[in-house]
Amino acid sequence: MHFSGRTTENRQHYLGFSSDLQRRYGQHRSGWGANETRKTIAEGLTLTVAQTWKGTPALERRLKEWSRDGRRGFYRICPLCPRQDDLPPDLTRALGSPSMRVYCNGDRGSVARAREPR
Ligand SMILES: [Zn+2]
Repeated sequence: MHFSGRTTENRQHYLGFSSDLQRRYGQHRSGWGANETRKTIAEGLTLTVAQTWKGTPALERRLKEWSRDGRRGFYRICPLCPRQDDLPPDLTRALGSPSMRVYCNGDRGSVARAREPR
């Protein structure tokens, strides 16, 4: 998830795992998600689902470890941020192509799925 600005802790992204994106996104947006998104909402910022991948909690952990290592953050894998494709090859393989690209429709937060890449 991409935030509309930086939090007081200088963060602009959140990565999570869910088997039900719409439900979890609703929880995050209403302030009942993770601590990090709750604080983000409280600071008046907006959450946008920028990208999803098919994967497992193990992949989520690997990505979080990668982002913490060297304090990279997630902007390099966020399509809403200027990108630098410097993911290590094993992570690039694990992610594959995005399972879908998700666009946020304003404050109502409806999620529209684009066609899967062929
Ligand atoms: Zn971003």
